[in-house]
Amino acid sequence: MPQKSLQDRLAILADAAKYDASCASSGAGNRNALKDKGIGSTEGMGICHAYAPDGRCISLLKILLTNACIYDCAYCINRVSSNVERAAFTPAEVADLTMAFYRRNYIEGLFLSSGIIRTSDYTMELMLEAVRLLRTEHRFSGYVHLKTIPECSPELMSEAGRLADRLSINVELPTRAGLKQLAPEKDETTIRTAMGHVRSRIEDAKDARRDRTLRRAKPPRFAPGGQSTQMIVGADAASDAEILTTSATLYAGYGLRRVYYSAFSPIPAPSAVLPLKAPPLKREHRLYQADWLHRFYGFEMPEIEAATTGGMLDLDIDPKLAWALRNRHVFPVDVNKADREMLLRIPGIGTTAVKAILKTRRHRSLRLDDLSKMTRALKRALPFLVAADWRPTQMLDAAGLEASLRPPKQMELFDAP
Ligand code: SF4
Repeated sequence: MPQKSLQDRLAILADAAKYDASCASSGAGNRNALKDKGIGSTEGMGICHAYAPDGRCISLLKILLTNACIYDCAYCINRVSSNVERAAFTPAEVADLTMAFYRRNYIEGLFLSSGIIRTSDYTMELMLEAVRLLRTEHRFSGYVHLKTIPECSPELMSEAGRLADRLSINVELPTRAGLKQLAPEKDETTIRTAMGHVRSRIEDAKDARRDRTLRRAKPPRFAPGGQSTQMIVGADAASDAEILTTSATLYAGYGLRRVYYSAFSPIPAPSAVLPLKAPPLKREHRLYQADWLHRFYGFEMPEIEAATTGGMLDLDIDPKLAWALRNRHVFPVDVNKADREMLLRIPGIGTTAVKAILKTRRHRSLRLDDLSKMTRALKRALPFLVAADWRPTQMLDAAGLEASLRPPKQMELFDAP
């Protein structure tokens, strides 16, 4: 069979990579090759955009080394039982393509993933070879995110951390049962062991950097952008509470920078065990909001879960408002006296507004007019706060409060008026 052209293979392998959402480049360490006359920087711009079928924007040159895989994960278009057209790059082709795109300023770096060819170690060797070529032959110092294979040897994982800015190991599904059902060749313990290895190597590198001031030796480099993971939402029966519990464990246990939630998009020729429905994008959005509350607003995951119904987040209102409505006894919060933690609990008041509140009230008491300049969601916040010229009398007890804060329902064509 004649070899497909590079362009044809690029079309296939870039398309096959679009289902992975765990490629945001935030968190990379600052690195600039100007000093040693190389090329690339993790500080600059130059981003291409790929679009998933559901409309999400995904940056970086995002490709697979190959879409041929010996595994049979039901949710994956590249599984061995899929009849999709197959293609592969050589490591040198991946390096050359990255440089060509970078020089044209189309991209800021590379996100490289792969189906598993022959064995996990064999595949990782090829992926590492591509990055090695980039780093040594092309002297490329730009951003590289490697999606690693958890079953590979610790030595290869260590090499990946030395070469890449960020590593990701996808947990894929939030529960062991889901993994067993939809990705039978994958093993939760192996995935977590690999994450644990990456975490300890990242911490070793950080310790060595701290020591550097004493010893003046060049500190070892290991995935300065940390590690991340992705969970597919809606392919199995896991509830939002189960997803968030898994996320909390991953953040606490493995020091992850990010957990990405990827609404399951129907794939061509899907497995019969998968749900035939539109991607749950709103659910994905609410999970990101809940994740945000956990990471930046001081909410514990059990608190967020307690504001779910049957383990599912409310799709009509954000998780912070849902929590506030179920915890009305802690409101109203006085914006002129409350500590930062309580201010962050007020619906409609974000971290930037809280910062502004704390700064301004050092000089004077805050009035509604001040708050209106700090948040665009003051109407949502009003029932939950006290200001110098505002006190929400009886609003919190009002039976209709929740209804007044919910967005109006769009009627279906045949609904009774
Ligand atoms: S191992 Fe990865 S590429 Fe292979 S079928 Fe599973 S999810 Fe797809």
